[in-house]
Amino acid sequence: MNKPKMATEKGVPSNSRVLMLLGQLERMNGEAMMRDVETARQVTAKICHLIQTQEKSGKEVMSKGSSGMEVILASLENTRDVQTTLNILYILSELLTVGRGRRVGVFVSKGGTGILFQILITASKELPPSEELMLQLHSLLAKVGPKDRKFGVKARLSGALNATVNLTKQNLQNTKVLLPCLQVLRVYSTNSVNAISLGKNGVVELMFKIVVPFSKKNISLLKVALDALGALLKSKTNARRAVDAGHVHALLALYQDWHHNDTRHRHMLIRKGLLVCLRNITNIKLGRKAFIDADGMRILYYSSTECLPVRTLDPLVNTSSLIMRKCFPKNRLPLPTIKSAFLYQLPHVPVVGPVAQLYSQPLGVDDVVDESDDNEETDADTENDTDNEEDKKDPHTENEDIETDLNKLHPKKNPGRPFEELKVYERFFLELSEDFQGYNFEPSKSASTTSSSFSSTRATRPIIVPTAQALSPKHVPVTSFQGDCNPSKGERRPPSPSVPTPAPPASLTPLELDTIHLTKDQDRKEEAHIPSPDTLTTLSSLIRPPSQAQTIEQALAHVLECVSLEATGALNTGEDGGQGVKPNGSPVNGTRHIQSPLLLEDIANRRVGGGGSNWGSDCGSEGTEDEGGEGAVLEVPDTALLLPLHDPDLYVEMVKGTHSVPQYAEVAYPDYFGHIAPTFREPLQERVYGVQRSKIFQDIERLIHPNDIVDKVVYDLDIPSCPVIEDNGESLKFNSQFESGNLRKAVQMRKYEYDLVLNSDINSNHYHQWFYFEVSGMRVGTTYRFNIINSEKSNSQFNYGMQVLMYSVQEAISGRPRWVRTGTDICYYKNHFARSSIAAGGQKGKSYYTMTFSTSFSHKDDVCYFAYHYPYTYSTLKMHLSKLEALRTPQIYLRRDVLCETLGGNSCPLLTLTAMPESNSNDHICQFRNRPLIFLSARVHPGETNASWVMKGTLEFLMGTSLLAASLREAYIFKIVPMLNPDGVVNGNHRCSLSGEDLNRQWQNPNPELHPTIYHTKSLLQYLAHIQRAPLVFCDYHGHSRKKNVFMYGCSVKETVWQSNITATSSDLQEDLGYRALPKILSQIAPAFSMVSCSFVVERSKESTARVVVWREIGVQRSYTMESTLCGCDQGKYKGLQIGTRELEEMGAQFCVALLRLKRLTGIRNHQHLLDLESDIIGTQSKVVSSSPSTYVMEEDEPSFLEAIDYSAESNDEDGEPEIEQGIEVQENANHLDRLSDCETNHKD
Ligand SMILES: [Zn+2]
Repeated sequence: MNKPKMATEKGVPSNSRVLMLLGQLERMNGEAMMRDVETARQVTAKICHLIQTQEKSGKEVMSKGSSGMEVILASLENTRDVQTTLNILYILSELLTVGRGRRVGVFVSKGGTGILFQILITASKELPPSEELMLQLHSLLAKVGPKDRKFGVKARLSGALNATVNLTKQNLQNTKVLLPCLQVLRVYSTNSVNAISLGKNGVVELMFKIVVPFSKKNISLLKVALDALGALLKSKTNARRAVDAGHVHALLALYQDWHHNDTRHRHMLIRKGLLVCLRNITNIKLGRKAFIDADGMRILYYSSTECLPVRTLDPLVNTSSLIMRKCFPKNRLPLPTIKSAFLYQLPHVPVVGPVAQLYSQPLGVDDVVDESDDNEETDADTENDTDNEEDKKDPHTENEDIETDLNKLHPKKNPGRPFEELKVYERFFLELSEDFQGYNFEPSKSASTTSSSFSSTRATRPIIVPTAQALSPKHVPVTSFQGDCNPSKGERRPPSPSVPTPAPPASLTPLELDTIHLTKDQDRKEEAHIPSPDTLTTLSSLIRPPSQAQTIEQALAHVLECVSLEATGALNTGEDGGQGVKPNGSPVNGTRHIQSPLLLEDIANRRVGGGGSNWGSDCGSEGTEDEGGEGAVLEVPDTALLLPLHDPDLYVEMVKGTHSVPQYAEVAYPDYFGHIAPTFREPLQERVYGVQRSKIFQDIERLIHPNDIVDKVVYDLDIPSCPVIEDNGESLKFNSQFESGNLRKAVQMRKYEYDLVLNSDINSNHYHQWFYFEVSGMRVGTTYRFNIINSEKSNSQFNYGMQVLMYSVQEAISGRPRWVRTGTDICYYKNHFARSSIAAGGQKGKSYYTMTFSTSFSHKDDVCYFAYHYPYTYSTLKMHLSKLEALRTPQIYLRRDVLCETLGGNSCPLLTLTAMPESNSNDHICQFRNRPLIFLSARVHPGETNASWVMKGTLEFLMGTSLLAASLREAYIFKIVPMLNPDGVVNGNHRCSLSGEDLNRQWQNPNPELHPTIYHTKSLLQYLAHIQRAPLVFCDYHGHSRKKNVFMYGCSVKETVWQSNITATSSDLQEDLGYRALPKILSQIAPAFSMVSCSFVVERSKESTARVVVWREIGVQRSYTMESTLCGCDQGKYKGLQIGTRELEEMGAQFCVALLRLKRLTGIRNHQHLLDLESDIIGTQSKVVSSSPSTYVMEEDEPSFLEAIDYSAESNDEDGEPEIEQGIEVQENANHLDRLSDCETNHKD
């Protein structure tokens, strides 16, 4: 027996009456309490009176330092007298009513709950038990239960569950006792083990007796009973019990009663409570079946439709929608297999991994749905006691992905391969040995007298390394390359005497520009709605040579100004006039017939500058003008002035040399015509409230109104005759059979609604995200809904303002060749298409996601394209490179090598770019050779086309004639692999190469045969490390689908240690902060760049990425992934806008400018000094420390929104939730914001 001392401690008034009484109570030890019952009653009654009548008494008892609660609890424990017990319970009840939970906390911490349970057990053995005692006990328990995390366990272990259940059963008609009993049961039930136990004792039935039939008599009782029932039904056993007893039907009927009778919506919580019961019952398969059988879909659909206009009823609509989506019968994706529709047999199959699994999958196995899907699930409860919350990890303090092995964290230069093997890579570094003897360095600046003809000076055949597979005949280039784009110009650029006649580099397609006869009509330019270049502040202004007087400093300042393109202002003086106005439906001069598909072999006749002409709108009449006599003359917008790197004819030539697995013979118009970034702003689309819900309701209507369903396959890559429809005008026509195209199947579901299925990456069965397809046969003014139904990620920027891209050919030939952000009612949500365990990495019961958008078309006879992001094909790259080579001046040293051939037979270009030495004097040659190297790469992930646009910006800047560009070239040697995954790009993959693997997870151990581009790129870096010339900066350009802005990932031991809990010595944390300089500079000069989004943490899941391997093995401190958003910006000058190619190219240019700034820090000066300088630019060391937490980016950038609840419409989601024995009210609120669970990796490098 406890005998606590009543304290008369400091701060407590010694004259306090209540404390005197407590002191008296304390002095009555256990025996005295028994003996002198009367005194105990009197003392406790007096205390009770004081506390009930004087607020200060309660405060004195509960004040800090007072042991009042101990004394009260000891007395409660010791007394055997019912009246004394009741007095003390009254005291407690009074005390715990005030104080907002702090007092309850004290009560719980002093063991109050256990004492109450003891008394409850003792009292329940009395026959009959004292009603007043039971009432007071339960009232008190109901009060403390939600605050005691171990309440459920304590109740069960003490045997109190049954005591409460029995009391409830005996008092079904006695509301006064029943209410506190139900309140306590409600708390018991939140513990999963208790719920099962209570279910066995008939409590589920009991609750149904209380809630059914409809009655408004005792609302509060009903509410508590429903809450308890809802909690009980979370147990699968209980749910099954309820289904077996036919309660699903009863609940639905009751819900309808409430829906009809609660006309003034006063009892929303009751209705919500009923829905929660249904929601939990339908977590089991049996429940879903019962729900469907009881016509639940229709009942909830119609009741929800009636609730929709009343905003306050949203919780009902949301929960109903959740239930309906869960019960919506799972559909099969309309595919024969989820493996790619394209077959590419690998030369050898990896022994383990997903690709091996794919190849070992026996024929005839259905990988689209699980066969066991229809089997009854076990529905068994796991009796794990989940009360012990303290064992659970706080999810915010630890990221399990962080590398915590200090040995692994410290960069370990690991050359890996003997130098003899690497020596073959010497040929890619001619600049490091070139002596330029015999080369004519005349002072003349005229391009006609001197020339750097090093573009192909030496043998640049694809190298054959000892370990690599020898090139097969199919890899032998069919065409030869004559050293430069234009043979006629070639005469003016004789190769330097020392340089042998260039051997044809492999697989560079001939650029026979002289065979292309352009009839460009310059006069049409104005009519063509193309803004005059003078009014445009495009990147070309960067290339324009500044006046000689301009210093580099001035140039830098100038660039910083003009490179920061305003989306408003000058740019808006184009055809669009006002700000922010999209020329939707702007008139076009007539419509022209557009040939679709655009076949490669047919692109013979074309007319440039179609805009504004009155040429016939009838294809038949055009045939007569056509010299070839076949087909229509293709009107090509004249974009030469605005798109200096684009040339439709050259593009076609490039396509001819591109190898695709499906052997595409078509060209997509957008790639052929080119893209001129629109001059109007494209704001992030504001989300319309309830859009997701209404889309889901439309999906549910497929069940409710089956007669509307067309279900007609209109496009299908899996059947040879694709496309499959006859042109009857009732359906849209689809096409995706061109480079980078991705659309596997289109099914017309309703008159103006299409379900679209994306193709998996080749040799894979997932990675659906990238899409690029053509649509024609549309009706003008009609709104079409498109649903991509096999998306995989659990969330998407399509929920946060991103729109799809659309390209209209009619617009293009009217002078507006461009991709524009398009689409309304865009949202992304979990759908009713089952994802097999094979597709879901072994997890069963998963679904796909729908990305839906609606759009209408402005032109008749149009051909339109939709894409996930601005397409950038491999052929486009080749075209841009050829055009860039033509921009070379005598001061530029540019070499284009073929690093290797890909599995698909495409060449992987490697560029070397720097300035020619001033002369062949020793000093100049020495300076030339010793320039630090910058190593850049991009597009390892094909779906991240933005990376290519950024790379285009970088390349264009580097080839520019500005002083800045010249300084940059004089400062560095650039080694650039602009497209690490040409095959993936060509074949419309989203993430992988033909090997079916993510190439950016192969850097630790790339296979020369399966991952040639990675293998050889890494070898280049290893070679450099060997000759002590590791690059100053390595950066791999990527795109990020989940975040806004542009940002970088780098590698820092220190910041990784900060983020993990590993102990590290201070020497471990000695770190050069140089890695922060470049991102810091970028955040100062590039408007899209955001420093706070950067992270320098090394994650385990990223250990085989370029960034981490180049850092760790090659020893490059400044090794980065640069991620550009696919969506838009939420900071800086572009805040609120979607990203466009202009901004992306600007980013690439700014990256160069930043390198120049970095040069000024790391240049000529001694090493320590430059480190200090770097510290200057990035702020003091302590400042870095304080800012470090912000650089760690959490999984999800976006705030969850109300509709996020819909993401969890997975049948088993709830079961994974931790049991929280806390207030039900809290749980209710938490239900609104369901987690956006995400198993995907976040950082996308
Ligand atoms: Zn990426």
